[in-house]
Amino acid sequence: MSPIGPVYLDHNATTPVRPEVVSAVAEALAIGGNPSSVHAAGRAARARLEAARSTVAAFLGAPVEGVVFTSGATEANNLALLGLPGRKLVSAIEHPSVLEAVTGSISVPVTADGLVDLEGLESLLALHRPALVSVMAASNETGVLQPIGAISRAVHAAGALLHVDAVQAIGRVPFDMTALAVDLCSVSAHKIGGPPGIGALVLRSDLDLAPLARGGGQERRRRAGTENLAGAIGLATALCAVTDWPRIAQWRDRLEREALAIAAGACVVGVAAPRLPNTTCLVTPGIAAQTQLMALDLEGVCVSAGAACSSGRVGPSHVLAALGLPAELARCAIRVSLGWTTTEADVDRFLDAYLRLVRRIQG
Ligand code: PMP
Repeated sequence: MSPIGPVYLDHNATTPVRPEVVSAVAEALAIGGNPSSVHAAGRAARARLEAARSTVAAFLGAPVEGVVFTSGATEANNLALLGLPGRKLVSAIEHPSVLEAVTGSISVPVTADGLVDLEGLESLLALHRPALVSVMAASNETGVLQPIGAISRAVHAAGALLHVDAVQAIGRVPFDMTALAVDLCSVSAHKIGGPPGIGALVLRSDLDLAPLARGGGQERRRRAGTENLAGAIGLATALCAVTDWPRIAQWRDRLEREALAIAAGACVVGVAAPRLPNTTCLVTPGIAAQTQLMALDLEGVCVSAGAACSSGRVGPSHVLAALGLPAELARCAIRVSLGWTTTEADVDRFLDAYLRLVRRIQG
């Protein structure tokens, strides 16, 4: 980002669209075509849609026929939970699009580090059969990575299915559905430099999924409606982009080290667990997240409080509560998330603004 423009450190909310994605989407829109039409324009659109589908499938190690394009991960999560039978066991730290997709789901506990409590999960699996378990690969709030391989073994040993919300993990850490034995996963383009409004539910090809949107045969009858071809191409293009995550992880680690040295009593949530390379959930006791957000915003630094990716809502975080973080600390947590536009100068600007803010309040 420009040195005088905003320092954008909110990539977990949404990521600026990559220039190559803008070009690919613009080109697809200019060409147009309905993939269901039988004429030449339709057949060409179908070929481009299927090429995008193959890219998504290859990226996730999934069968090409398992890719169902959706309007994003919210729809993909709803489709997974509503489209498959069985009791729904969902971790306590899931995104609201999982937590609120069905009524009567059963909450799977997490540890203080934000990891799914495997023994707790096994006990629940013994009680509820058949079951669909939903666990996110990486937390949008803390960046903590779940041990998906171990979870998948426990889930399959109990004869259940595993759905993974992989929105924050894909493109940032390796994620292969076959290697991890994941039955279904949700992805979204706008967290990886793609356009908002497109995502996918990707499933093992032999799973029978009931559609949410009916009234058309598209997406193998699993999602009716004319396909968002430009969006699908945008998602595929974004997946092919390369980001230097090890370098971003170094900047994130530096940001944490220096922030902890600036503010008395500050801590990073989930620091003992494996985490994404880009995310920090920073608690500065005594300074409300709202105050921090506004002070940083005045200095041109964009971060968010908790899971503020829906309607600017800044409420108590269900994720931090599930980790057992006391409410007075949870209300002082901000999320800083780096991404493909981040430079080391952005980290400097954050630290300068944070230092001024903390000095003003802590003295
Ligand atoms: N799951 C997670 C973990 C997310 O971070 C988000 C975006 N906030 C979603 C699902 C919803 O994605 P979308 O915006 O594509 O509906």
